[in-house]
Amino acid sequence: MPIQKLPDHLINQIAAGEVVERPASVVKELMENSLDAGAKRIDIDIELGGSRLIRIRDDGRGIDKQELSLALSRHATSKIASLEDLECVASLGFRGEALPSIASVSRLTLRSLQQGAERGWQVQTQSGDVAPPAPCALNTGTQIEVQDLFYNTPARRKFLKTEKTEFRHIDQVVRRLALAHAEVAISLTHNGRSVLSLAAADSDAARDDRVRQLLGDAFIEACVKVEHEAAGLSLSGWLALPTFSRSQADMQHSFVNGRWVRERTLMHAVRHGYRDVLFHGRHPAYVLMLTMDPARVDANAHPAKTEVRFRDSRSVHEFVFRTVERALSETRPGAAVDKPATEAEVAGPTRLAVSAPQAVQGGLALLEAVSSAPHTPTVHAVAEPPLERPPEQGPPLGYALAQLHGVYIVAQNATGMVVVDMHAAHERITYEKLKRDFANRNVVSQPLLVPVRVALASRELQLIEQHDDALRDMGLVVEPAGHEAVVIREIPSLLTQDDAEQILRDVLSDLAEKGTSGRLEALTDELLATMACHHSVRANRRLTLGEMNALLREMEATPRADQCNHGRPTWTQLSMQALDQLFLRGQ
Ligand code: ADP
Ligand code: MG
Repeated sequence: MPIQKLPDHLINQIAAGEVVERPASVVKELMENSLDAGAKRIDIDIELGGSRLIRIRDDGRGIDKQELSLALSRHATSKIASLEDLECVASLGFRGEALPSIASVSRLTLRSLQQGAERGWQVQTQSGDVAPPAPCALNTGTQIEVQDLFYNTPARRKFLKTEKTEFRHIDQVVRRLALAHAEVAISLTHNGRSVLSLAAADSDAARDDRVRQLLGDAFIEACVKVEHEAAGLSLSGWLALPTFSRSQADMQHSFVNGRWVRERTLMHAVRHGYRDVLFHGRHPAYVLMLTMDPARVDANAHPAKTEVRFRDSRSVHEFVFRTVERALSETRPGAAVDKPATEAEVAGPTRLAVSAPQAVQGGLALLEAVSSAPHTPTVHAVAEPPLERPPEQGPPLGYALAQLHGVYIVAQNATGMVVVDMHAAHERITYEKLKRDFANRNVVSQPLLVPVRVALASRELQLIEQHDDALRDMGLVVEPAGHEAVVIREIPSLLTQDDAEQILRDVLSDLAEKGTSGRLEALTDELLATMACHHSVRANRRLTLGEMNALLREMEATPRADQCNHGRPTWTQLSMQALDQLFLRGQ
């Protein structure tokens, strides 16, 4: 065949292959156009999963009569005019491809009444030919009808899934854009039945409510909100607490300048921020909006525009990671509640005898005693208020009443009953302490009175040689002792002699599994977590009330204390109200 220029219609159909994968892609492109046109309300009607009809109506600024057919021609756009414009594009669209592509594979009607114009006009396309504009009646804004998608490309039409599946994709696209554009009212119907009806949200409460409508009660109730700005970057949104983690990455919504994207730097940064509050293999859930100068991000990376490139991805990563990490570190008992209360507590005349910092200090000393010597004699250093007076305010986790089967601490606080998983809580406390010490480069190690000799395989000996410095930094001092053995001379002072051998072995197996060459830094947290787990109070250890209270105070002062290192909850609250309900009181 000789080389020849392809006809426009065919070029558009080829472009449609990239831009219009399925009905949901049409909905996405048309909604983005409406948003770009400044719409405050978008109504979407779908029939038969979008294969019979997709109709989108908006109240945006509309299109001039003269420009109607231009809007449907290839590479025609009102959003950019030069390379400079492209490099700092702030609109969702800019390629001028969507409408002609969609028109080339469907029967499309475009109606529009431009703001300030006297009457509306409509154009229709049939197999790529645009009919001249005809007058029509409509309110200001634009309405686009896409009928019989892929009617003229049978191969594509065959690839459509069931009506239900295609609609599910549409629903997802609409929900995503609805998350990022809360200021726009949105409705969606399928075969005449209302599926989604969202009012415009202009307050924080209303925005929360929209997230609730879109992602469910459970999500919004398990969220911390983030809002942070630095160095021209701004991140805001909702982060689900680790206890709301999911088995799939299906609730991760990130937006860059209002555009829903799946971008690796961003997703990795968020994941990294969750790294040691999430159980292995679980996925975080979040809605995050990153905003920045459009010139710092390249949106022209993919025809469907679901990918972007950051011009400085390192600083974006750092910023997002830090912000997420900080927000999650606030997850400790009473973090949200006690902030406003603190001042009142300081000023209040009839407060409990022991102020919080004292209790915490006492707690620290006690904990040390608890952990370093299993047979510590009972100490009653921490204030225990008389039990007959229920604490009106008091610390968020209240005061311990008893230990249950050596596993749980039962405590009483202002709201009712608190149950704490001793081991899980202590593990988090130790871990955070180890991390802090490690970061400050002051891991205190203690020489062992009797060095512990450990027989090892030669591969393990190699690992020790290789990572000697790193092990020292963590407070583990190990020396070779003859053939295939080492002695442990020093261990972190938090740990006890009995743990020494087991810890070394666990650290070595962590190293063997993941710690090739330069990866040790990333591994540190895991090693510290391994140590923390060893060190923590085992089940069936009897604690005195004083020791239990010390643990509670420590939890209140420890970041991320709401979950153990594996993302399981460390404590739970049963309010008086909930108890009353259990006993059908007052009913
Ligand atoms: P792009 O969005 O990349 O510019 P499109 O093919 O999606 O390309 O749209 C072409 C042009 O048609 C847009 O640049 C815009 O000027 C106009 N347009 C499309 N949809 C709307 C709408 N809903 N309201 C106002 N103008 C629109
Ligand atoms: Mg567009």
